[in-house]
Amino acid sequence: MSLTPETFQTELFARLGRDYRLRWSQTNRSWCIEQQIGRAVWELPSDGNTHPDTLLRAQEGFILVCEVQARPFVVCEDCGGQIKVPELTIGETWCQACWQAGLRPIRKTLGYIPLSELLLRRLEQTSIKRHGTWQREMETRNRLLQESLDRDDSNEMDAIVGDYFNRCLDIPQVGYGGIITRKNTLS
Ligand SMILES: [Zn+2]
Repeated sequence: MSLTPETFQTELFARLGRDYRLRWSQTNRSWCIEQQIGRAVWELPSDGNTHPDTLLRAQEGFILVCEVQARPFVVCEDCGGQIKVPELTIGETWCQACWQAGLRPIRKTLGYIPLSELLLRRLEQTSIKRHGTWQREMETRNRLLQESLDRDDSNEMDAIVGDYFNRCLDIPQVGYGGIITRKNTLS
Protein backbone atom coordinates (compact mmCIF):
# COMPACT_ATOMS: atom_id res chain seq x y z
CA MET A 1 0.00 0.00 0.00
CA SER A 2 1.41 3.37 -0.98
CA LEU A 3 1.78 6.13 1.60
CA THR A 4 1.29 9.81 0.91
CA PRO A 5 4.55 11.83 0.85
CA GLU A 6 3.44 13.54 4.10
CA THR A 7 2.85 10.23 5.89
CA PHE A 8 6.10 8.83 4.54
CA GLN A 9 8.01 11.88 5.79
CA THR A 10 6.41 11.56 9.25
CA GLU A 11 7.43 7.90 9.39
CA LEU A 12 10.96 8.75 8.26
CA PHE A 13 11.27 11.23 11.14
CA ALA A 14 9.87 8.82 13.69
CA ARG A 15 11.78 5.74 12.63
CA LEU A 16 15.09 6.94 11.21
CA GLY A 17 15.51 10.36 12.79
CA ARG A 18 14.83 13.98 12.04
CA ASP A 19 17.95 14.25 9.90
CA TYR A 20 16.14 12.30 7.19
CA ARG A 21 13.98 13.95 4.60
CA LEU A 22 11.93 13.15 1.56
CA ARG A 23 12.46 15.57 -1.31
CA TRP A 24 10.94 15.76 -4.75
CA SER A 25 13.51 16.08 -7.54
CA GLN A 26 12.09 18.24 -10.29
CA THR A 27 15.00 17.33 -12.57
CA ASN A 28 14.70 13.57 -12.27
CA ARG A 29 10.98 13.59 -11.49
CA SER A 30 11.62 11.21 -8.64
CA TRP A 31 11.59 11.09 -4.84
CA CYS A 32 14.93 11.46 -3.08
CA ILE A 33 15.40 10.14 0.43
CA GLU A 34 18.26 12.13 1.91
CA GLN A 35 20.12 12.33 5.19
CA GLN A 36 21.79 15.38 6.66
CA ILE A 37 25.36 14.58 7.60
CA GLY A 38 26.72 18.04 8.22
CA ARG A 39 26.37 21.76 7.75
CA ALA A 40 25.97 23.45 4.43
CA VAL A 41 29.02 23.22 2.24
CA TRP A 42 29.63 25.36 -0.78
CA GLU A 43 32.37 23.46 -2.49
CA LEU A 44 31.60 21.79 -5.76
CA PRO A 45 31.69 18.01 -5.61
CA SER A 46 35.23 16.88 -6.39
CA ASP A 47 34.05 14.52 -9.12
CA GLY A 48 32.78 17.47 -11.16
CA ASN A 49 29.16 16.36 -10.87
CA THR A 50 27.01 19.45 -11.42
CA HIS A 51 23.59 17.80 -11.40
CA PRO A 52 21.15 20.21 -9.66
CA ASP A 53 20.26 17.58 -7.04
CA THR A 54 23.93 16.94 -6.25
CA LEU A 55 24.60 20.67 -5.85
CA LEU A 56 21.55 21.20 -3.67
CA ARG A 57 22.53 18.34 -1.39
CA ALA A 58 26.08 19.69 -1.13
CA GLN A 59 24.80 23.17 -0.24
CA GLU A 60 22.53 21.81 2.48
CA GLY A 61 24.85 19.15 3.86
CA PHE A 62 22.77 16.18 2.75
CA ILE A 63 23.66 12.87 1.13
CA LEU A 64 21.42 10.77 -1.06
CA VAL A 65 20.23 7.60 0.65
CA CYS A 66 18.10 6.39 -2.21
CA GLU A 67 16.02 7.64 -5.08
CA VAL A 68 12.71 6.13 -6.11
CA GLN A 69 10.55 6.83 -9.09
CA ALA A 70 7.20 8.40 -8.42
CA ARG A 71 5.32 6.28 -10.94
CA PRO A 72 5.59 2.71 -12.22
CA PHE A 73 6.57 3.95 -15.67
CA VAL A 74 9.06 6.22 -17.44
CA VAL A 75 8.59 8.26 -20.59
CA CYS A 76 10.30 6.99 -23.74
CA GLU A 77 12.87 9.50 -25.00
CA ASP A 78 12.22 8.46 -28.61
CA CYS A 79 8.44 8.31 -28.95
CA GLY A 80 7.21 9.96 -25.75
CA GLY A 81 5.20 6.89 -24.85
CA GLN A 82 5.15 5.14 -21.50
CA ILE A 83 7.59 2.35 -20.63
CA LYS A 84 6.38 0.10 -17.84
CA VAL A 85 8.86 -0.31 -14.97
CA PRO A 86 9.09 -3.55 -12.95
CA GLU A 87 7.38 -3.11 -9.59
CA LEU A 88 8.95 -3.93 -6.21
CA THR A 89 12.00 -5.23 -7.98
CA ILE A 90 14.65 -4.16 -10.47
CA GLY A 91 14.63 -5.54 -13.98
CA GLU A 92 15.08 -4.84 -17.66
CA THR A 93 12.46 -2.92 -19.55
CA TRP A 94 12.09 -1.29 -22.98
CA CYS A 95 9.56 0.66 -25.01
CA GLN A 96 6.94 -1.66 -26.47
CA ALA A 97 5.68 0.98 -28.89
CA CYS A 98 9.14 1.53 -30.38
CA TRP A 99 9.71 -2.20 -30.55
CA GLN A 100 6.40 -2.75 -32.37
CA ALA A 101 7.29 0.04 -34.79
CA GLY A 102 10.34 -1.97 -35.79
CA LEU A 103 12.84 0.21 -33.97
CA ARG A 104 15.44 -1.16 -31.60
CA PRO A 105 14.59 0.48 -28.27
CA ILE A 106 17.27 0.84 -25.61
CA ARG A 107 16.90 -1.60 -22.75
CA LYS A 108 16.92 0.05 -19.34
CA THR A 109 17.35 -1.52 -15.95
CA LEU A 110 14.86 0.10 -13.62
CA GLY A 111 12.71 -0.64 -10.63
CA TYR A 112 9.70 0.97 -9.03
CA ILE A 113 9.31 0.85 -5.25
CA PRO A 114 6.49 3.12 -4.08
CA LEU A 115 6.62 5.19 -0.91
CA SER A 116 5.42 2.40 1.32
CA GLU A 117 5.90 0.40 4.49
CA LEU A 118 8.13 -1.93 2.49
CA LEU A 119 10.48 0.90 1.57
CA LEU A 120 10.52 2.23 5.14
CA ARG A 121 11.47 -1.19 6.46
CA ARG A 122 14.16 -1.51 3.84
CA LEU A 123 15.58 1.86 4.87
CA GLU A 124 15.51 0.90 8.54
CA GLN A 125 17.48 -2.24 7.77
CA THR A 126 20.12 -0.50 5.69
CA SER A 127 20.39 2.83 7.52
CA ILE A 128 23.86 3.61 8.83
CA LYS A 129 22.34 5.50 11.72
CA ARG A 130 20.01 2.67 12.62
CA HIS A 131 22.96 0.33 12.41
CA GLY A 132 24.91 2.52 14.85
CA THR A 133 21.97 2.66 17.22
CA TRP A 134 21.58 -1.08 16.99
CA GLN A 135 25.26 -1.57 17.74
CA ARG A 136 25.03 0.59 20.86
CA GLU A 137 21.95 -1.35 21.99
CA MET A 138 23.81 -4.59 21.43
CA GLU A 139 26.84 -3.40 23.41
CA THR A 140 24.63 -2.31 26.32
CA ARG A 141 22.85 -5.65 26.27
CA ASN A 142 26.16 -7.51 26.18
CA ARG A 143 27.56 -5.47 29.04
CA LEU A 144 24.51 -6.05 31.25
CA LEU A 145 24.52 -9.74 30.40
CA GLN A 146 28.24 -10.00 31.09
CA GLU A 147 27.81 -8.34 34.48
CA SER A 148 25.04 -10.70 35.47
CA LEU A 149 27.04 -13.69 34.21
CA ASP A 150 30.08 -12.55 36.16
CA ARG A 151 27.98 -12.48 39.31
CA ASP A 152 26.80 -16.01 38.56
CA ASP A 153 30.37 -17.17 38.21
CA SER A 154 30.85 -17.38 41.96
CA ASN A 155 30.89 -21.10 41.52
CA GLU A 156 34.19 -21.25 39.73
CA MET A 157 34.20 -24.96 39.17
CA ASP A 158 30.98 -24.81 37.16
CA ALA A 159 32.51 -22.13 35.00
CA ILE A 160 35.65 -24.12 34.31
CA VAL A 161 33.66 -27.25 33.46
CA GLY A 162 31.31 -25.28 31.30
CA ASP A 163 34.14 -23.65 29.43
CA TYR A 164 35.70 -27.04 28.85
CA PHE A 165 32.49 -28.37 27.31
CA ASN A 166 32.10 -25.33 25.15
CA ARG A 167 35.55 -25.76 23.73
CA CYS A 168 35.09 -29.49 23.20
CA LEU A 169 31.80 -29.07 21.40
CA ASP A 170 32.80 -25.83 19.69
CA ILE A 171 29.76 -24.01 20.98
CA PRO A 172 30.11 -20.37 20.07
CA GLN A 173 29.86 -18.01 23.00
CA VAL A 174 29.04 -15.10 20.77
CA GLY A 175 25.87 -15.55 18.77
CA TYR A 176 24.61 -14.09 15.57
CA GLY A 177 25.23 -10.35 15.27
CA GLY A 178 27.76 -10.38 18.07
CA ILE A 179 25.24 -10.81 20.89
CA ILE A 180 26.59 -12.98 23.65
CA THR A 181 24.21 -15.88 24.03
CA ARG A 182 25.23 -17.79 27.12
CA LYS A 183 28.54 -18.04 28.79
CA ASN A 184 30.05 -21.23 30.09
CA THR A 185 26.82 -23.17 29.77
CA LEU A 186 25.56 -25.78 27.39
CA SER A 187 22.60 -24.54 25.43
ZN1 LIG B 1 9.27 4.57 -27.54
